[in-house]
Amino acid sequence: MAVLGAGIMGSRIACHFANAGVEVLLLDRPDASAVAASAKDSSASSARNRLVNEALEAARKSNPPPLYRQDSIRLIRTGNFEDDLSEISSADWILEAIVENLEIKRALLEQVAAFRLPGSLVTSNTSGIPLQLISKGMPDEFQAHFCGTHFFNPPRYLPLLEIIPGPRTDRKVIDFLLDYGDRYLGKTTIRCKDTPAFIANRIGVFSIMNVFHAVEKTGLSVEEVDQLTGPLLGRPKSATFRTADLVGLDTLAHVARGLYEQCPDDEQRELFRLPAFLEKMLEQNRLGSKTGEGFYKKVRKEAGGSEIQALGLDTLEYGPSKKTNHLLLEAARAVDSLDGRLKLFVTAEGKAGAFFRDHFFGLFSYCSRRIPEISDQLYRIDEVMKAGFGWEKGPFEMWDALGVAATVKAMEESGYQPAGWVLEMLQAGHSTFYTVESGRRQYYSIPEKSSVDIPGASAYLSLELLKREAFVWGNNGVTLTDLGQGILNCEFHTKMNTLGGDLIEGLNKAVTLAEKDFEGLVIANEGAEFSVGANLSLVLMHAVEQEWDEIDFLVRTFQKTMLRLRYSTIPVVAAPHNRALGGGCELCLHADYVQAHAELYMGLVEFGVGIIPAGGGTKEFARRAAEETSKSGIDELDALKSRYMTIATAQVSTSAWEAVELGYLDLKNAAIGINRKRQLLAARTKARELADTGYQPPVPENIRVLGRLGLGMFTVGASNMAAGNQISEHDGKIAEKLAWVICGGDLTAPSEVSEQYLLNLEREAFLSLCGERKTLERMQSILRGGKVLRN
Ligand code: NAD
Repeated sequence: MAVLGAGIMGSRIACHFANAGVEVLLLDRPDASAVAASAKDSSASSARNRLVNEALEAARKSNPPPLYRQDSIRLIRTGNFEDDLSEISSADWILEAIVENLEIKRALLEQVAAFRLPGSLVTSNTSGIPLQLISKGMPDEFQAHFCGTHFFNPPRYLPLLEIIPGPRTDRKVIDFLLDYGDRYLGKTTIRCKDTPAFIANRIGVFSIMNVFHAVEKTGLSVEEVDQLTGPLLGRPKSATFRTADLVGLDTLAHVARGLYEQCPDDEQRELFRLPAFLEKMLEQNRLGSKTGEGFYKKVRKEAGGSEIQALGLDTLEYGPSKKTNHLLLEAARAVDSLDGRLKLFVTAEGKAGAFFRDHFFGLFSYCSRRIPEISDQLYRIDEVMKAGFGWEKGPFEMWDALGVAATVKAMEESGYQPAGWVLEMLQAGHSTFYTVESGRRQYYSIPEKSSVDIPGASAYLSLELLKREAFVWGNNGVTLTDLGQGILNCEFHTKMNTLGGDLIEGLNKAVTLAEKDFEGLVIANEGAEFSVGANLSLVLMHAVEQEWDEIDFLVRTFQKTMLRLRYSTIPVVAAPHNRALGGGCELCLHADYVQAHAELYMGLVEFGVGIIPAGGGTKEFARRAAEETSKSGIDELDALKSRYMTIATAQVSTSAWEAVELGYLDLKNAAIGINRKRQLLAARTKARELADTGYQPPVPENIRVLGRLGLGMFTVGASNMAAGNQISEHDGKIAEKLAWVICGGDLTAPSEVSEQYLLNLEREAFLSLCGERKTLERMQSILRGGKVLRN
């Protein structure tokens, strides 16, 4: 693989290929001041590569990190266009990501054509230059292997990859890239047409400009619009104006102006004209986050500290950001489902209602009329907006939620015209864009005038679809679903998937049913978090009331449930994604197998709230430390110390690969998948495989603990740190409790103890810490604002 251009995109795209285990040659311009390198002169060569090396180093250090694990950087070799371009002859894919300028791109690609091997792929990351112009006049064989691969920033985190055929691209090349991006890079790959800004930026920038103009009409403020168009509308927290600040107002204006010029026949073209407030902001170099001020600005307060102020669109002055007490906002917050909130918004009274009707009707009309111009199929527009802009529902899905026919009527009454095919679809008796047929999602295909399966969807399992027909059992926090092939799924759906009574009941029910009627169990969900751990407010409430028996019962039940997961007669596969903290992490530590998503933020974080892991987490770390010593010969004190420190510093991984380094995942019984959509199917396949290969539950074994030998080391360490003010007195106390448990208490010599013995120590330590005022203050702090209090 060769990536040409090591700017913001090229350097990070190279990192993402390294994440996928691919060796990358990353090239950029030579440092003109350095003399050309001879083949043997390595210091001259590194001077010539200054630009690319510095760019890669800046990427490696950037936040959020572009690499799953730091050492993958060794897969990226650097060089420069003048000295090293001939090396692309060994690459089977050459990806160009240099400056957005047609002539410069063409000049470089002409050189690429001279060096590349026939059959190698050449793709451009251009965000707006027509592919046909870039490849015009190139040799036929080059053109057959050339197309656009449009990654989004940051490439590791944004799941969309648009694939854009040029006029002569071989179909097999497109099919290969659609599959490769999905399977190996973890992307939602969407085939686009070679039209201005492709699909995501065409619709995304339209949507933002549509809001800008609607705001001018309705007079809503920046903060009001962001509150209305954020999570309540199924969109990211950055909503509209904050998103524009993050993208950069110059970039946004550049795309909008480009669309205005390149789309003379677009019926909504006038919307791409910049509103007066944006023109003025550009003149004043208020470009958003990159210049420190845009629609929002961080301002130092006289009394110390800082606050975020919002721009008044009429005055262009900043003022304190106001939380709007819109009645509509209050009403919307009370509605759990997005569909319910969309209905509330579209029928609302007053300015906000008018704003939403403009926003929805304009968007629906625009998207329907972009077919077949930018896509032949409607589902691609929805997929692109979800993967590229973080929308929970795409435009056609929102339209379905509001009722297609009723919305068409309201649109027509308000002067918005949907495309003719929508009316034809309704007349032919299709009342929605999407339907579900035998657990498979279908969309209305406009060319075929009928509902058909979404291509490639058979590679994914969706709980949302399955549970309609394969529901097995449920309570308020858990749904059990038959995944097929003899495997049951346990899905959590509490707020942030905190673990409380319902979840414990659900997990136990899942094991019982799986042992009786199935052959394996998967624990996976489609929420934003796998689980952020125990329900702290419940623990805090009992602790404040001094209901120690209740806490004892909670912990005991949780521990028993973890042991059931481990020793049940069926294989249990946990499939964590995003955050798996505290109890969520402990659950994975007790599963037979973990099918993890690469984006996994896993950790035993109990220390931060003044307690220690007591759902078997500390016990598991003691067991794993002893295992490392017996199997790999690592010194037993070193092994235990490293485990102890991971808990004592509440370390959270920044990827599943880092979770392996931290000891939360063990690749002997875990696998890491890059595509979130494929995770559930992979977990079911693993559970099935374990069942088919004669799964036997593990035989309980004693755990070797170090007693006083370990306690001495930890106690001295903690008291030195407390004495040196490196940790607080309370930290010192928690550290002592942790040491007590992980060493198996005050045993005179290293001994073998049962799992239950360690679980009892965990529980006692947990209960005693819940009796500490400072622990309760830590819990309160997390529950109030999410801040870790180091009191
Ligand atoms: P950038 O400005 O960060 O990097 C551009 C790179 O091009 C630099 O490494 C520079 O050294 C190189 N370059 C400049 N002039 C050159 C020349 N004359 N010859 C050869 N190389 C030259 O830009 P970027 O944001 O990384 O964008 C790269 C490409 O990706 C562009 O086509 C852009 O439209 C596209 N893109 C950018 C984003 C984004 O958010 N930044 C998103 C999607 C696509």
